[in-house]
Amino acid sequence: SDLVLTASDRDAVNEVLDSNWLTMGERTKRFEKAFAEALDPEDPPHAIAVSSCTAAMHIALLALDVGPGDEVIVPSLTFVATANAALYTGATVILADVESETDLSLSLADVEARMTDKTRLIMPVHYAGRPADVLGLRRLCDDRGIHIVEDAAHSPLADSQADAEGVFHPLGTVGSIGCFSFFSNKNMTTAEGGMAVTHDDDLAARLRVLRSHGMTALTLERHKGHAHGYDCIDLGYNYRTDELRAALGLSQLSRLVDGNTRRVELSARYHDKLAAIDGLVVPFAARDVSARQDMDQGRRLAPHILPVLLPEGCDRQQVQAHMRDDGIQTSVHYRPIHTFELHSQHDRVIATGLDKTDAIAPRLLTLPLYATLGDEAMDLVVAALARAIAAN
Ligand SMILES: *Cc1c(COP(=O)(O)O)cnc(C)c1O
Repeated sequence: SDLVLTASDRDAVNEVLDSNWLTMGERTKRFEKAFAEALDPEDPPHAIAVSSCTAAMHIALLALDVGPGDEVIVPSLTFVATANAALYTGATVILADVESETDLSLSLADVEARMTDKTRLIMPVHYAGRPADVLGLRRLCDDRGIHIVEDAAHSPLADSQADAEGVFHPLGTVGSIGCFSFFSNKNMTTAEGGMAVTHDDDLAARLRVLRSHGMTALTLERHKGHAHGYDCIDLGYNYRTDELRAALGLSQLSRLVDGNTRRVELSARYHDKLAAIDGLVVPFAARDVSARQDMDQGRRLAPHILPVLLPEGCDRQQVQAHMRDDGIQTSVHYRPIHTFELHSQHDRVIATGLDKTDAIAPRLLTLPLYATLGDEAMDLVVAALARAIAAN
């Protein structure tokens, strides 16, 4: 990833410094409103800006009363924060498998097989910015009374596959609550930061209270004389964001669609070029083609990363070292959660039969993808990868 910070970003942040009000206030409200309207112009959800996506997921689960004794199903192939958010609440994490080598999304069949009468919530991840089948998940969950909290950290301003009526739904708004990340390597950034969105008025109110110490009034409201005292009605946290981040967020949001569009072009170009490398598997290749066709009907896409599976038996460390020598940074998304020391031994993490995840994990490699990546730079990446694999 690479950061794109412009003069407008700097001006926006400096304006906050000049204003002499730094903590959560009017800009944060504007950021929340703008994000909600960008996410769904027809029917903007409530949006609650927080300090990170991890914080958003934590209070999302608390707002839905998830706690000890409850089971939360999470893919093992995700960033550790998805599972941790459930562990914070005292719930038990049930890890689930991916769909296949070429579709690294959460497997619905595997989720269904892992459902018990204790299952309270599913946390699908829109891995790499490619939508998990949240509409299918809704069909599985709705009549069982199971909630969905979407980890949409990779997919701001992207839409689901079409529903039966041909309608695309903004990712993050299909489940009860959707959570976004503005960490610095995401499609838009506020350095650290996140957002929870929901269409449910009561959940939105609860999220706002949980974000700020469980208090009924904010500093700004007291400052403006709108509130003189406050009560504490819930065990909340300090998960607030601030005006500097909100200003940067507003500025970054104005360029997000352009960045996402460039990421779509880059992903398509990667697919074309990488097809020439023998034995390399490029997940989502087929899905991306049909998703791009849906863009004519107004579907929005937001690819986040470009993961590949190295040929079987290929030494990933050697490939990465080779590419590093060529000046190319690579990474791995992700080491599966059930392989971490903490989680493999945790009595509230259940990991059985994750065969597909186990098979793909050692082969995963993430190539550079960011809005300002040039075509020539991509050609260098592809050539270096081909050489690194050939040398292996
Ligand atoms: C980045 C990320 C998170 C955590 O986001 P933070 O804002 O850093 O807390 C959660 N899930 C996934 C899939 C992510 O990529």
